[in-house]
Amino acid sequence: MTDRHHASNGNYEDTDPQNQIGGIIPAFSLSGWLRHGMEKVVQERGGTACHPGEANANFRKDGVYNRDLDAGYHEKGECLDDDDGTGCVILDLFGGFENRPGKVMRRPIKFSPVRSSVDYTRGQAEGHYRRLNRNIVSRNKQDNREPLRNAELDAVGNLDGSWHLSFRETKPEFVALLAAAIEYLDAHNTDFMHQLGGARNFGGGIVDCELVNPLYEEHELRRVFNRSKDSTNKMDEKDEEWENEYLPEFQAVLAECVGDV
Ligand SMILES: [Zn+2]
Repeated sequence: MTDRHHASNGNYEDTDPQNQIGGIIPAFSLSGWLRHGMEKVVQERGGTACHPGEANANFRKDGVYNRDLDAGYHEKGECLDDDDGTGCVILDLFGGFENRPGKVMRRPIKFSPVRSSVDYTRGQAEGHYRRLNRNIVSRNKQDNREPLRNAELDAVGNLDGSWHLSFRETKPEFVALLAAAIEYLDAHNTDFMHQLGGARNFGGGIVDCELVNPLYEEHELRRVFNRSKDSTNKMDEKDEEWENEYLPEFQAVLAECVGDV
């Protein structure tokens, strides 16, 4: 929930241009959400994922760290001893060990309540706001929670749009892992663990997600978000091509990376 309410003293107008402002979902919440889905995919295929934290980060949490190592993680950076020195696919994507940059570019999602100013091809979303009424009560004990005033404020109820992802270097296993993780996250979107914007186990937003066919061109991507237009024959052809030709090849490379061959 993002409060876009500025003036609270009874002079608030939701149509005021001042209150037509948007916001962003930070890149780090998004990449954390994606990483968690990707880790699950790797684990489901019998592999282990790089632990996101340093082994020596917090001694008091030693038990938690060791428990994670038993539950599908290996020590961060341990995988760098492999043949090509790039580490496991999670480390390769997200980096973080010895200042290695990850190959996934972390981007935020910008959102706006004004549909015409949303550019879906640049990873933006339309925000739908909800009006909330809140009673502001006195905090003085002797007032017995006497209401002081009623405040109306708008909060983001839901967002509809795209997240623009790119890789510094494109590898087939990245694309296959991305496709599988998005599918996994969509299927588990009501699990607290896989919600967006909360710390682990706290939950947050429920994300309905789907990978937009990477073969689409920009005008086709726009069409995906245009409620008045269906997909074209060309787009349907590309969907089949993606499903039957591209994805299986990428998946085969991923299976080799994770060791499930
Ligand atoms: Zn690793």
